[in-house]
Amino acid sequence: MTATTNRPLRHAVIGAGMAGILAAIKLKQRAEDFVVYEKAAKIGGTWRENRYPGLSCDVPAHAYTYSFEPYPEWQAYYATGSEVQGYFEQVVAKYGLAADIRFNSEVSALDWDAGTNQWTVTLADGSRDVFDVVIAASGVLHHPRLPEIEGLDSFEGPAFHTARWDDTAPIDGAKVGLIGSGSTGIQIVTAINKKVDKLVHFQRSPQWVMPVPQFQYTEEEREAFRRDPALIDAIRFADEYIGNIKRFTDAITDIDGPQMTMIEDVCRQHFESSIRDPELKEKLRPNYRAACKRLIYSWCYYEEVQHPAVFVETGKIARIEPKGVRMADGTFHELDTLILATGFQADKFIRPAGVTGENGMTLDAFWATRPTAHYAVTLPHFPNLFMLNGPTGPVGNFSLIDIAERQWDYIDQLIDLLRKGEAASVMPTVDAHNAYEERRIAAAKTTIFGSGCTSWYLDATGVPASWPWSYDAFADAMAKPVLSEYAIRTPVAA
Ligand code: NAP
Repeated sequence: MTATTNRPLRHAVIGAGMAGILAAIKLKQRAEDFVVYEKAAKIGGTWRENRYPGLSCDVPAHAYTYSFEPYPEWQAYYATGSEVQGYFEQVVAKYGLAADIRFNSEVSALDWDAGTNQWTVTLADGSRDVFDVVIAASGVLHHPRLPEIEGLDSFEGPAFHTARWDDTAPIDGAKVGLIGSGSTGIQIVTAINKKVDKLVHFQRSPQWVMPVPQFQYTEEEREAFRRDPALIDAIRFADEYIGNIKRFTDAITDIDGPQMTMIEDVCRQHFESSIRDPELKEKLRPNYRAACKRLIYSWCYYEEVQHPAVFVETGKIARIEPKGVRMADGTFHELDTLILATGFQADKFIRPAGVTGENGMTLDAFWATRPTAHYAVTLPHFPNLFMLNGPTGPVGNFSLIDIAERQWDYIDQLIDLLRKGEAASVMPTVDAHNAYEERRIAAAKTTIFGSGCTSWYLDATGVPASWPWSYDAFADAMAKPVLSEYAIRTPVAA
């Protein structure tokens, strides 16, 4: 006989960033037992770690909130990084989550016990605890990638990665070098160009830039948002945002279709009409298709990069010397400060924690070719382990909060099987996952991300590591797990 009584569950949530906070709220609302493990001393994840000048969120602020926690206080259409951090801090306070979070607690290992159907969570300090469910919400872009450039350690001034911002480093009136022209490097150019004596922007690849509007909300508008949340919804669900997302996902999956043509036309027109100096124009002209790398959404980059203090250096860096950067052609750029906007190791996820699932399967072994997860959420061999913003999800395609909320709805239905006592453990079957991955990889290769450029979207084999279908397909997939794709072990009869 299968037990059908409610089973009290203990959950471990790993990470107190946007996704971990979401899981904590949802579990708290169910009055379930959970602990959030956070490696740092504060909540916020990416918004805690990134404090560089110019940091802003390129999803409209009113769309970058939990659907159940609208925020009338946003100052502008696009919010600054510190405002976003403030939003999450006030959400954590409102839901009284601080006591549920163990700060300075880095998870070093997860071990599945098939006898008890539980995970043992081991922390870096050696302490252990046991849980029925693990929610991995440890983020994607949080292990800085430092460039392998000869002599980096020899630089005499401050040299630091953008996610490790050094507030003491000379910027005002200084000679500053900035390596990297992803979303981060571009935002930094727009924020420090007028403060520096000189900014040398070392650009290995130029970017396509999608022009977007930016404007401040007035106090009257904020007051109206406070009185009438429908006004917030009108922005959140406006065609300018949600319609654009749908058009964007149509474009990336139909790369010769009308939506992609429109994106390319807008970016090209913006480029052609904005850059005045012909030499700079050629430096900034991309030689790959728009949206192949993550599109830059900016209202000011092309104007700011033309500031006289900015020099875009497109030559090859030979080495870093104590006083600056030597180019392959012998040119030397003397610098006081060197900023490394060189991105992140996007294939780590919960690692370096050692994760061991059924029959001794490790995450490193399972991900030997590439990090994968079933619909970006669950993993064969790793029962009762659920990922928020895990590998191959639509990261970069639409708001990560919307993604996490939809993933939570999917996960919650699987956890329900455990809650109701209908399952002791749940994970996708190897066959279902392999069939899914085969479909995903075939589709991913035809997306714009696979159209011939380098980016952190590509896995080690060159296949785009992202969700390759539309927004609606994602919403449909997350609405209800297909239980026939899952190995559902029933509990021992009572
Ligand atoms: P990124 O997109 O990976 O860009 C890294 C940059 O560093 C690239 O320009 C890369 O050049 C360059 N680079 C790497 N190694 C180099 C080397 N050895 N020599 C010279 N150049 C080197 O990283 P990111 O800019 O930090 O952005 C990562 C992601 O974070 C974004 O795509 C986005 O998803 C997210 N983000 C979002 C926002 C936002 O507004 N919401 C803001 C910042 C970041 P190549 O292109 O030639 O490889």
